[in-house]
Amino acid sequence: MARERVAVRSHPGVLEHLPALGHPEMPARVRAVLDALREHPAGWTLEPEAAVPPDEDVIGVLRWLHASDLINRVRRSADSGRGFVDAGDNPVSPGTWRAALTAAGLAISSALDLVNGRLHRAFLALRPPGHHAEQNRAMGFCFFNNVALAAEVASRALQAPVLIVDFDVHHGNGTQKLFWERPDVGYLSVHRYPFYPGTGGGDETGEGPGRGMTLNVPLAAGAGDDAFAGALEAGLDELGSRLRPAVILISAGFDAHEEDPLGGMRVTDEGYRRLTRAIVEAADLWSEGKIISVLEGGYDLHALGSAARAHVEELASPAGSENPPGDGGSLVH
Ligand SMILES: [Zn+2]
Repeated sequence: MARERVAVRSHPGVLEHLPALGHPEMPARVRAVLDALREHPAGWTLEPEAAVPPDEDVIGVLRWLHASDLINRVRRSADSGRGFVDAGDNPVSPGTWRAALTAAGLAISSALDLVNGRLHRAFLALRPPGHHAEQNRAMGFCFFNNVALAAEVASRALQAPVLIVDFDVHHGNGTQKLFWERPDVGYLSVHRYPFYPGTGGGDETGEGPGRGMTLNVPLAAGAGDDAFAGALEAGLDELGSRLRPAVILISAGFDAHEEDPLGGMRVTDEGYRRLTRAIVEAADLWSEGKIISVLEGGYDLHALGSAARAHVEELASPAGSENPPGDGGSLVH
């Protein structure tokens, strides 16, 4: 079988959100990721201007998870061209609405492509990030919850369980809250704790029909590759076998990197390779290899580029890399 192809998708619209100078969540982040992936592509195709659905369609899906009030606040604030949405760390510019809608649109269209068989594996280089965004609250640089929207699209279309794996250094409070009582959308997060946003204790496991489908693995400041990847591997074993997901979504934040100015952890590029391999193995086991990975945090431009490249290289590795590529004969006989 041919080497696994990964679609690396982005869109110029995601660059239009311009927080004030000095804000860590800047357009250069996406440029750094795309530059790192543009050099010597190895198993992926770049789609820097991937298609996004019409605005009305994106807004329709946003309403599945977000309050109309939040959608209107983001649009109105961007129209006014200044100020904040909900929190001081969520400044807006005139392009914020376009960027947030484009990021959500990339997540939604990729999930649709996946359920329709047009896409098998993707990495979405988008911003603003999403995993802190709650039903009716923007926070932590996030406006709309991109990965949650992709998960919702996939779970509705497939009528099958989906799993969100979040390795951003911060806990994805928004994602956890949106699916807290859902038996069909699992949430696994490995993160620094206690730390922003304050949630993510090991005793937070979901409620009602969703009980046991949220799994948090809090780590102390300074954790490195073994702690971070080991926690993720164990979490995947536990929640994967409980949920048996038909698709795996990733909240891919790279702010646990040792060079990140915000994270305070010591994960290296090799650590991101290792934890990505664990997710790929889980996807091969449960989900026919189907993965959509969505960029979240990561604030050192160099580290972000190199870690994202390590992540995508592993996403592009052939299934069961111990098998020799190009000759499937041994499988037949
Ligand atoms: Zn983060």
